[in-house]
Amino acid sequence: MSWLRRLLGRTAPKSPKPAVPLPVDWQRAVARSVPHYRFLSPDERKRAHDLIERFIAEKEFWGNRDLTVTQHMKLVVAAQACLLILNIPRLGLYPETKEVILYPEDFGLSLDAIGPDGRTYHIDQSRIGEASRRGPVLLAWEHVKQSASDRLDGRNVVFHEFAHALDYLNGEADGAPPLERSNDFTEWSRVMSSELRALRAAASMGRRTLLDPYGAESPAEFFAVATEHFFEDGRRMKRNHPALYAQLRAFYKQETADWAV
Ligand SMILES: [Zn+2]
Repeated sequence: MSWLRRLLGRTAPKSPKPAVPLPVDWQRAVARSVPHYRFLSPDERKRAHDLIERFIAEKEFWGNRDLTVTQHMKLVVAAQACLLILNIPRLGLYPETKEVILYPEDFGLSLDAIGPDGRTYHIDQSRIGEASRRGPVLLAWEHVKQSASDRLDGRNVVFHEFAHALDYLNGEADGAPPLERSNDFTEWSRVMSSELRALRAAASMGRRTLLDPYGAESPAEFFAVATEHFFEDGRRMKRNHPALYAQLRAFYKQETADWAV
């Protein structure tokens, strides 16, 4: 009775997409471009490939500033985003993120302005990634590529922005994504607050720690930065920040400290 549905302004419910295995050459491209995948078990890799296939089918990708988005670009973004949620199926496939917008490189505002005193001031609000509640995730392709290939530098713009997307799932980004049980929140909050305080104290004295000082900005940035380190350098995080590592392991359900160098 599709004509009747049309008449009533309704559309037929979408049938779920049949599971199509990720083509073998795409699987090879993931293994080549995102070295984190070599540490997954065959079962995890297979589940990750299914998520990647769905991610590419369900999310809209757009290129900005004349960037033509290729299948390879989609694959490299999806492979990193899906790594985060591999073992937390209860959160779905980033249900509030419908679009990914890629820029060739840094985007945002960067300009020289002349002040009333005649001096030239440089205003730099350029960025490499951005996420907002129910909005698109914006990424600079140059940095996506670099993040994927360097597994140990503790920086990964895709992990960072998609950690924000997880954080937004239960309201404003506040550094606490939806935890499994409500009583997990007390311990999460205690550990995150104490680690954030320690990072702020170190940053104010100009002392470097394992964690990027950008995480000292707010609880939301702290969670995103900690996620980057958890997936890039879990072994050192477990050694230097065991309580923080334990909270992230409980949330992501992955043992990244076991990923050999
Ligand atoms: Zn951020």
